[in-house]
Amino acid sequence: MTHVHYLKLADLAPGMTVRVDGGFTCMAEGEERVVKADVDGDLYIECAEGRHGLAGQLDDDGRLIGILDARDPISRLFVDFDAAMWADGYEMDGDAGTYTPNDAERGLIEDAVAGVVGDLHEQIRPLLEARDAAVRDAWSRQHGLNADGTPRRETVPADDPAGALAK
Ligand SMILES: [Zn+2]
Repeated sequence: MTHVHYLKLADLAPGMTVRVDGGFTCMAEGEERVVKADVDGDLYIECAEGRHGLAGQLDDDGRLIGILDARDPISRLFVDFDAAMWADGYEMDGDAGTYTPNDAERGLIEDAVAGVVGDLHEQIRPLLEARDAAVRDAWSRQHGLNADGTPRRETVPADDPAGALAK
């Protein structure tokens, strides 16, 4: 059995990207969606049938069944960068003309470039996490969310819809 880490509502805010697993008929496995909010502050993602409310995916433990973390699009630029391919296509264009590296030099270039991209990713990762935390905080403050990330609502007792008993 594989370990699956489903997100919780409190992990999310509008603008974040999630990925879905294979348990949906209205979305294909691995598809990514940007989280949006309706006028009530309920989070949803767009699917083949319109809006797929995230609260409908909640299990008893507050996990959003089928909703997974997606790699941040900025982070993905670094992770997916192909240093070997980049080095293969590299030529130096200088004032003195063009220089085409030999195989040994290409190996060196690839190693150096992969190192730089990896270092930059390490440096940018905490910035991305801080950005996501700020987005979540702003969203929670704006909507006065419950601790589990669900919108806090004025509730009217079912036997007193007009609120007469409260007066
Ligand atoms: Zn759907």
